[in-house]
Amino acid sequence: MLAGKTALVTGSTSGIGLGIAKALARQGANVVLNGFGDAEGPKAQVAALGVKVGYHGADMSKPAEIEAMMAYAQQSFGRVDILVNNAGIQHVAKVEDFPVERWDAVIAINLTSAFHTSRLALPAMRAANWGRIINVASVHGLVGSAEKSAYVAAKHGIVGLTKVTALETATTGVTCNAICPGWVLTPLVQKQVDAKAAALGLSNEEAIKRLLGEKEPSMQFTTAEELGELAVFFCSAAGNNVRGVAWNMDGGWAAQ
Ligand code: NAD
Repeated sequence: MLAGKTALVTGSTSGIGLGIAKALARQGANVVLNGFGDAEGPKAQVAALGVKVGYHGADMSKPAEIEAMMAYAQQSFGRVDILVNNAGIQHVAKVEDFPVERWDAVIAINLTSAFHTSRLALPAMRAANWGRIINVASVHGLVGSAEKSAYVAAKHGIVGLTKVTALETATTGVTCNAICPGWVLTPLVQKQVDAKAAALGLSNEEAIKRLLGEKEPSMQFTTAEELGELAVFFCSAAGNNVRGVAWNMDGGWAAQ
């Protein structure tokens, strides 16, 4: 379905980003990976699906590095047809205790980077009259939770950016939508499980039950594979007129 297209997925050396990259690769899209840590393992996983894979290690908090990544994708693959803004970090603290440097980092990586990648990808998408921008927001783009001020602000912000991008491209073959996961058991969430286990003297399993029980009525994690299939739907012909939605896959979290 996506043969000949190129997808750039930020923060795709791990977790949800890697899951989405693999789902798009299964549909035939070539993939540009990005993110920190080991890149060879993720590259091999995507290449095993029979597509061309590239990697750029740009730091999403640095606009000049984002520009270099977009230039790399254009030079190596011709064009970015599918842009998945997924890179993200978390920091948990009360507003009055929130380290200023952490606030700036969360906003830069979880929100501002998507503005930069989008502004740089849109001209070629418009010229081709086809493109997909998928912003990985969160259920925290729809509702708040205590001690996550920067994250909730960034995720509400990216839902807003999604709507505006969708409106500005509404008469074209370019669409922009957001995915809003509830809990997904990635390294980002395992850190929160570990913190809960340590603070309350719980086992890993008990801490997971507590975490899910507080927010997610289904009592089960959403998986990166399920989120990947939602991204594939947004890229399909059936998604041609799906514009500006913030689609939660959250086990009922936001329905409460
Ligand atoms: P993760 O920690 O497994 O992966 C994050 C990825 O982003 C990694 O590849 C990491 O290297 C990369 N990254 C971090 N900082 C970066 C930077 N400055 N520049 C470039 N890359 C950077 O996390 P995840 O859970 O897969 O999260 C992915 C996205 O999904 C995030 O935007 C997160 O907010 C969102 N999300 C996660 C959950 C969840 O429960 N895990 C729920 C809702 C939304």
